[in-house]
Amino acid sequence: PYVIAEPCIDEMDMSCVDECPVDCIYQGERKLYINPKECIDCGACEPACPVEAIAQDRRVRPEYQEHIADNARFFNEP
Ligand code: SF4
Repeated sequence: PYVIAEPCIDEMDMSCVDECPVDCIYQGERKLYINPKECIDCGACEPACPVEAIAQDRRVRPEYQEHIADNARFFNEP
């Protein structure tokens, strides 16, 4: 699945939400989250993000790795 990382914090531009064909991007308190169980890996959201916060989980930059777990926690998945 795709993951939204640090640049989204307090940004929440929401452009990605309009691009997602399965509506699996949800709003948290300070950032958006992609539900890993619903994401179909289409990649449509990635170029829509103005702050480049989105990447496929295996391509998430090393400094943003914690956001993969943070994303899963948001949906209560260990
Ligand atoms: Fe939605 Fe596609 Fe982005 Fe997954 S990769 S969150 S399905 S737009």
